[in-house]
Amino acid sequence: ASDSNIIRATLFPGDGIGPEIAESVKTVFRTADVPIEWEEHYVGKEIDPRTQSFLTWESLESVRLNKVGLKGPMATPIGKGHRSLNLTLRKELNLYANVRPCYSLPGYKTRYDDVDLITIRENTEGEYSGLEHQVVRGVVESLKIITRQASLRVAEYAFHYAKAHGRERVSAIHKANIMQKTDGLFLKCCREVAEKYPEITYEEVVIDNCCMMLVKNPALFDVLVMPNLYGDIISDLCAGLIGGLGLTPSCNIGEGGIALAEAVHGSAPDIAGKNLANPTALLLSAVTMLRHLKLQDKAERIQDAILNTIAEGKYRTADLGGSSSTTDFTKAICDHL
Ligand code: NAD
Repeated sequence: ASDSNIIRATLFPGDGIGPEIAESVKTVFRTADVPIEWEEHYVGKEIDPRTQSFLTWESLESVRLNKVGLKGPMATPIGKGHRSLNLTLRKELNLYANVRPCYSLPGYKTRYDDVDLITIRENTEGEYSGLEHQVVRGVVESLKIITRQASLRVAEYAFHYAKAHGRERVSAIHKANIMQKTDGLFLKCCREVAEKYPEITYEEVVIDNCCMMLVKNPALFDVLVMPNLYGDIISDLCAGLIGGLGLTPSCNIGEGGIALAEAVHGSAPDIAGKNLANPTALLLSAVTMLRHLKLQDKAERIQDAILNTIAEGKYRTADLGGSSSTTDFTKAICDHL
C-alpha cells in the first residue's frame, strides 16, 4: 500500500495479558500486510483532570481523530475520585452500540456447531443510566431511561449492519408486555426503522422466550438488537454457546462513525507475563475492526488463518486444552497466512 492508503488506528494494549495479546495482533497484521499504522496509548498512572480518569485526554483525542481503534483489557485501578476506564470511554466517545458476532469455531467442539449470531446492545442508557437512590430506609429506586434518540440510533445501526453484511433478519428483544412505556418506546423505534428496510425480516421476541429459544436452537436467530441490560446478558449467553469469553470479539460503535473494537475478557492477572494467554478474542476483535474499515479481504484472510489454526488442533493455548504459548500460537496463525 502507498502511504496515502495507510490507516492510522489507536491501540490500547491495556493491562495484564493485554500487551502480550496486542503484540500478537501486531505480528499477525504485519504478516498479512494490513495497511494500518498503530498509535499506541497506555492508561496513565495519574488521574487526568480533563477526563477525571486514568485515561488521558490525548488517548481519547487519538480515537476521536483516527475514528478507529483496538482496546485490550484494562484493569480498573482501585481508589476514589475517578471514573471507571470503560465508562469514560463509553461516555466520552459516545459508544452507543456494542456489537458482538458469535459464530461456531470449526474444530472447537461445543454443544452446537451452527451458531452464527450478531448481538447489538444499546450501550448508553436503559437500566445502566446510573440513576439509583434511596427513597426512604429500606426502599431504593433505580431509573431505567429509554429515549427515542438512542433507540432509533441503535435500531438504525442494527438494520444498517444487517443489510451491509447480507443478513436476513433482525429480532428486537424486549419485555414490553411488562415495561410498556420503556420497552414499548424501544420497539416503536425499531418498527419505524424496520419500515425503511423492507428486504430485512423484522420480528419482536420477549426476552425470556428469547433465552429459551437461544439455548434450544441458536440457529433460530440472526441479528438481535436490544436495550442495555438485556444486551449485557444475552451477549454473554451467546458467547457461552461458542466456547466462552476467551473466543468472543466485540466492537463498540460511537458517534461520528467511531469504531473501538475490544476483547470481552479481562486482564487475566493470573497468567499475565507468562506467554500463556489466548490472543483469539483480541485478534477476532481486530478482524471486526477491519470489516468496519471495509478491508474485507484482509479480514477474511486473517479470520480463516485463526480458525484454521484452532481447527487443526496442533497449536492451541491452555484455555482450549492445548499447551502452546501465545507466541507459538501466533506463529502458527502467521504460517497459515
Ligand atoms: P478475566 O477475564 O481477566 O479472567 C477470568 C479467567 O479467564 C482467568 O482465569 C483468566 O486467566 C482467564 N482468561 C481471560 N482471558 C483469557 C485469555 N485471553 N486467554 C486465556 N485465559 C484467559 O476476569 P477477572 O479476573 O474477573 O478480571 C481481571 C481484571 O480485568 C479486573 O481488574 C477487571 O476489572 C478487568 N476487566 C476488564 C475488562 C475490560 O477491560 N473490558 C473486562 C473484564 C474485566
